[in-house]
Amino acid sequence: MAGEVSWLSERARRIQPSPTLAIDSMAKAMRAEGKDVINFGVGEPDFDTPDNIKEAAFRAIKEGFTRYTPSSGIPELKEAIIEKLEKDNNLLYSKDEIIVSCGAKHSLYNIAQALFDKDDEVIIPVPYWVSYPEQVALNDAKPVFVKTHEENSFILKPEALRECITKKTKALILNSPSNPTGTVYTKKALEAIAEICLRHNVFIISDEIYEKLTYDGNKHISIASLNEEIKKRVIVVNGISKAYAMTGWRIGYAAGPRELVRAMAAIQSQSTSNPTSIAQKAAVEALKGPQDSVQRMVEEFDRRRRFIVNELRSIPGISCIIPAGAFYVFPRIDGLFGKRYAGYMIENSSALSMYLLKEVFVATVPGSAFGDDRYIRLSYATSMDNIKRGLQRIREAIERLR
Ligand SMILES: *Cc1c(COP(=O)(O)O)cnc(C)c1O
Repeated sequence: MAGEVSWLSERARRIQPSPTLAIDSMAKAMRAEGKDVINFGVGEPDFDTPDNIKEAAFRAIKEGFTRYTPSSGIPELKEAIIEKLEKDNNLLYSKDEIIVSCGAKHSLYNIAQALFDKDDEVIIPVPYWVSYPEQVALNDAKPVFVKTHEENSFILKPEALRECITKKTKALILNSPSNPTGTVYTKKALEAIAEICLRHNVFIISDEIYEKLTYDGNKHISIASLNEEIKKRVIVVNGISKAYAMTGWRIGYAAGPRELVRAMAAIQSQSTSNPTSIAQKAAVEALKGPQDSVQRMVEEFDRRRRFIVNELRSIPGISCIIPAGAFYVFPRIDGLFGKRYAGYMIENSSALSMYLLKEVFVATVPGSAFGDDRYIRLSYATSMDNIKRGLQRIREAIERLR
């Protein structure tokens, strides 16, 4: 553990490696040993990047588009992003309000670098995506956690938000559709949040990476699109990883106030420089080319989502709300706490995840990684066959508990 090495920076000793990636590497190690591991831990689409996008990358290589680009992204991609934001989100931006980074995660990190000072408070609704608190802490600011509840579809309530705002509050991190809960915020919920943030001068960092993955007629709304006033206080973060099955290409972007974008661009120019030239060309094709692959992916995710929720609900001790977006289910599992089997004692979400991995070779992520120990997260970005076999194993493992 880095925590025991005294000559490492205080910052390095404070940081926790991503727990979702940790489970993933454990599952992969077991698979390498020849175990038939079914992995519900992954946070990336199991589909291949569409061919038209790959072709655009091949073309870029052949045409020699292989050098440094402007560090905040090529104009052609910024234009494609501007078009996308107007078409999908009814948001108007100019090029100096857009920055392309090495993934949405990198955009978020640049925002944290450019926006947070020591002791600034940043509000993070729980359950949260694992990187938010760590990125806040890495930039010397303080994560302030506010609970959301299953009964309310894990939507942040205005009263709860109001209660945790202080003079030091700098920003709220909002993620809709949400990882891990799949929550899609309604317009009404967003309006209430926007009003409070405007009144208290709180910035909103809106992570919209799952916007294309919504079900049952739920539609993603960007909080920046509610009105011109709130737009000045919102930084929209999005990318191509999830919608176009392009996690490895590392292209994300942010749109927001030009002063902030300028500062982010300066930080990026002194740290990573430009995102990969070839991937930027591929991203242009992703955004401007045919969109039918997105639709097909959503239909397949939807089929899996309904199956997995029904299966989970039929296992005694587990309950599960149906997620409206993203590709995760977040079943409640604390009904199993205190139960045992062989040498295992299910005392928390980690113990359950560990039991499922070691006993029936099924990888899940404990809810503690997302700030709520009463749940576990399963990704359904894996084949229907894996889902069927995996759920059968989970059922058997849980029925063994006494
Ligand atoms: C996957 C994910 C990201 C990061 O996406 P990249 O563009 O691949 O960096 C950001 N936010 C959430 C909530 C995610 O699940």
